[in-house]
Amino acid sequence: MANDFYDATMWCERCSEYVRFLQSTEKAFCTECGERVQMLRDDDIRRIRRLLGGAKPRRAGSEGASTPA
Ligand SMILES: [Zn+2]
Repeated sequence: MANDFYDATMWCERCSEYVRFLQSTEKAFCTECGERVQMLRDDDIRRIRRLLGGAKPRRAGSEGASTPA
């Protein structure tokens, strides 16, 4: 198997991209600049939350006006 290493990336605000990271006990750091990194970009987190929260089928044409924030 080629997956000896967990080949994941995390979001680095400073690099503005998903980067390789170093994982310490609780925190993860960008291997490029040393900044703290997070699992997902804020935009992506918001999008996922929206997807999860809006799991109910949406009706064509009724989107917008009465949608709670
Ligand atoms: Zn970085």
